[in-house]
Amino acid sequence: MTYAMHKAGGSGGRQRAFILPRANAEEAALVRDATIFPADTLLQVCAHFAGRSAETRLSRHRSAASQDRPSYPDFADVKGQAQAKRALEVAATGGHSLLMVGPPGTGKSMLAARFPGILPPMTDDEALESAAVQSLTSGYSASRWKMRPYRAPHHTASGVALVGGGSPPRPGEISLAHRGILFLDELPEFDRKVLEVLREPLESGHITISRAARQADFPARFQLVAAMNPCPCGYLGHSANKCRCTPDLVARYQGKISGPLLDRIDMQIQVGALPHEDLLKQADGEPSAAIAERVEHAFERQLARQGKANHALTGAEIDEHCKPDQAAEQLLRTAMTKLNWSARAYHRVLKVARTIADLAGSATITQPHVAEAIQYRRALRDH
Ligand SMILES: [Zn+2]
Repeated sequence: MTYAMHKAGGSGGRQRAFILPRANAEEAALVRDATIFPADTLLQVCAHFAGRSAETRLSRHRSAASQDRPSYPDFADVKGQAQAKRALEVAATGGHSLLMVGPPGTGKSMLAARFPGILPPMTDDEALESAAVQSLTSGYSASRWKMRPYRAPHHTASGVALVGGGSPPRPGEISLAHRGILFLDELPEFDRKVLEVLREPLESGHITISRAARQADFPARFQLVAAMNPCPCGYLGHSANKCRCTPDLVARYQGKISGPLLDRIDMQIQVGALPHEDLLKQADGEPSAAIAERVEHAFERQLARQGKANHALTGAEIDEHCKPDQAAEQLLRTAMTKLNWSARAYHRVLKVARTIADLAGSATITQPHVAEAIQYRRALRDH
């Protein structure tokens, strides 16, 4: 027996209460409206039900989980990189997946680690789903309640570690990142087969693990943030360090990320090396709290209009909610032809433009919104 249940608040009360082992009480107390009675022994449980006196009744658990906004690393610590920060703000607002391309030492990991701190706050349901997956492994602590998960597996991680598996099947990094961030640094170094497996959960939000004897379905609604160098040496397009990689080598390197996977990444941005004068400056970034406020406001616009984030809009919903004005549509069509986009890529740019318009408080998608969205799709070779 792991728990007992009884009615609290008299015979007419409809509120449910749980008797649980003391070790699980803190986690269970995260469920709103549930009353928890922690017990150390079965004798205490019997006494609780049989007893009439106050001494034998179990006492109600008081949750220690903080309801304050959780604390994350802050964007205020990041020098320069205004364009990358702007792109991350857009990605956070619309839930868009993002790939950062740039030479080593430009702070791509530092930017990624600060990303969870500007996302819209977790709802109770999201926090419970996340806690439920984490508690399947050893890793849940009630002190992390409502903290967006941030998982950054190394590129040498096995397929099982990344997507889940084993016997009995256990969730992998993509599920532990459910309702949070999966950060894949040095994306081309990951096993290509493993990367291809990401395509399904990126679309569906869950992963099915099949083993000979059993099948398991785990949630995997993560937001992908990835980073990579532009070429094997890392310095392609960088003026100070000369890159000697041949075009062939560059193509092979970038080609490790397949077209279909790239197609599913909404935004691809360049993160440049900091100009020398920026390196000497103190960190002067805008604090995460200020960015988070704009993100939340623009996120609420999306919920009010369509009940979901822009990245999750389906084909028919895109037609309904992402209508560009005439000039914007013309610009988009020109870019599509010139850059040889797939229909999928076209729709992604439109969704990102919708998010940029939401941040600007604009009901209509206009030319500047589309122009910015197009910039977020030009970091790598055309595809
Ligand atoms: Zn190079």
